[in-house]
Amino acid sequence: MKKNIKDFNLEELKQEFIELGEKPFRAEQVFKWLWQENITDFQNMTNLSKELRQKLNDLYIIKNFEILKKQKSKDGTIKYLFDILDGGNAIETVLMEYKYGKTLCVSSQIGCKMGCKFCASTGIPFVRSLTSGEIAEQILAVQRDENIRISNIVFMGIGEPLDNYENVVKAIRILNNPKGLAIGARHISVSTSGIVPKIYSLADEQIQCTLSISLHSPTDEQRSEIMPINKVYNIEKLIQACKYYIETTGRRVSFEYALAKDNNDNLEDAKKLIKLIKGMNCHVNLIPINKIENGKFTKSTNENIIKFRDYLNNHGIVATIRRELGSDIDAACGQLRRKNLKK
Ligand code: SAH
Repeated sequence: MKKNIKDFNLEELKQEFIELGEKPFRAEQVFKWLWQENITDFQNMTNLSKELRQKLNDLYIIKNFEILKKQKSKDGTIKYLFDILDGGNAIETVLMEYKYGKTLCVSSQIGCKMGCKFCASTGIPFVRSLTSGEIAEQILAVQRDENIRISNIVFMGIGEPLDNYENVVKAIRILNNPKGLAIGARHISVSTSGIVPKIYSLADEQIQCTLSISLHSPTDEQRSEIMPINKVYNIEKLIQACKYYIETTGRRVSFEYALAKDNNDNLEDAKKLIKLIKGMNCHVNLIPINKIENGKFTKSTNENIIKFRDYLNNHGIVATIRRELGSDIDAACGQLRRKNLKK
């Protein structure tokens, strides 16, 4: 099987080229064609000799996702279903428009093992993790389709990014590379359900990306019930890891908190949350929980959501309510699912 050339970072590609008897600067040219020019065919890499183009074509494939489905929401959000070209798997990717630019919500795995009760990616069999090339190709595919430049990336699609640590970090470095997509690390957010040892590893990478923690509850009892990972790494361990991330990177951590009616949305919960994170360099992102098929949670009332936010703000915790984008096309938080192709 031919290797996907998008799975190599620049250093690895240079090494490949040396082994092929080619000059390393040729690797850099190819890398730029792929990641800066979004060229989908070796034949169009016009500063390479015809022989080299042919050689590359014989040895590698350029994995360019195909669009199986594209849905546009009333609010402009676009959900893509991509055929990832490995014989029947597809993933979802969501493009959102914010005042500060275009944000892409990317998937990191085909399916998810974490089993969070409120999330649509749960309950469907896990298939595999995406490669770094497949993660980053989501950006290229959308940029080709819409003829735009994406300025922000959030790892909040299907999958647990820290359960696919190596490939996610590799993808971030490709996105980050000035010779690649040149997206600043501060414009990249990694969201995790809380795989604690990997939070320490990510801090030590010194990448400067934003870390988002899917907290959703301030007590172990409640959190373990909705997020099985909490039984492995409890809230205390999670908060310690976040403190390490803040200290090591100098970056603020973002806590995601999806508000479910009569579950985690009363002021007693807010009080406990304040106690837990007070004094940390952090921000709370309140998400009105999105309904999923067969889900038992319902959205808090607007009134409760505002009360919850104001209570946090009045007690020294910066909290904002996340705009609900794309909920009419099942593209909002937690609504993405692995889709099988029926070819
Ligand atoms: N596995 C990672 C990233 C994917 S989920 C993580 O857990 O962070 C992206 C965000 O959407 C997470 O904060 C997740 O908890 C949240 N989410 C999942 N289901 C949701 C739902 N039904 N309503 C609102 N947010 C949800």
